Amino acid sequence: MTTHYEIVPEIACTRTGKQYRQGAEALRDINFTVYKGEILSILGPSGCGKSTLLKMIAGLTSVTSGEITVNGMTPVNARELVSFIFQDATLLPWRTVKRNIDLGLELEGATRERRDGKTEEMLALVGLSDVAGRYPRELSGGMKMRVSIARALATRPRILLMDEPFAALDEMTRNRMNDELLRLQKQHGWTIVFVTHSVAEAVFLSSRILVLAPNPGRVLEMVNVELDRSNLAEVRSSDAFEQEVSRVSRILRGAHLA
Ligand code: ADP
Repeated sequence: MTTHYEIVPEIACTRTGKQYRQGAEALRDINFTVYKGEILSILGPSGCGKSTLLKMIAGLTSVTSGEITVNGMTPVNARELVSFIFQDATLLPWRTVKRNIDLGLELEGATRERRDGKTEEMLALVGLSDVAGRYPRELSGGMKMRVSIARALATRPRILLMDEPFAALDEMTRNRMNDELLRLQKQHGWTIVFVTHSVAEAVFLSSRILVLAPNPGRVLEMVNVELDRSNLAEVRSSDAFEQEVSRVSRILRGAHLA
């Protein structure tokens, strides 16, 4: 297996728990570390707390027991390092592609000049320079997703939290987005926590997969993915890929029964 990440902890959950004020115990005693430059996926049945865990890492909802540190800080203090990419690429329909990408920078109070330069760079990065002046309704699902990724990246995060970002895309587009994400991640060295329902997507993207079980949400297993990704085009059709997908699927079935 080829690993491209350093063994430096970036996100650490220690005995982390979440009890919503109104509702059940969402997560109990979660312990794991995400290393710098690693892509870690989270798999588990609906309701096992995947989104809650991501939101806690992002500092969007409180940790009610144990702790989470992000680059040694509390999640709220580490917010600048983090970008959250949600399930639905929620673009503002009245803004062009360029102005949608601009949004995060505008909220940060960046100068016009810096915003323009950065937006151009991001458009090129996700291959959308040609559609800068178009509106979201004129774009395909895959293009919208790329705009929301470009928007998230414009503020230069080093940690990406992705909550089923490609779930609404057809398989071919999703595969292309996965390829692109791996390419960009390698180039920029981001640390990524990726929530998905797709075992194949988790295996393709990640060095490790955290499998959660429900009621309350807890760690069932941390799976090391053994996969040679040196030739990306060949990965999905390889026997090793198929074997890893079967192995992780079996573990995930255990989570449904747990
Ligand atoms: P998943 O992403 O794995 O589907 P969630 O994190 O969305 O799981 O939810 C975990 C549990 O917490 C579920 O039982 C859900 O109903 C509950 N939950 C999620 N958000 C809230 C909230 N804001 N208030 C109360 N309960 C919530």
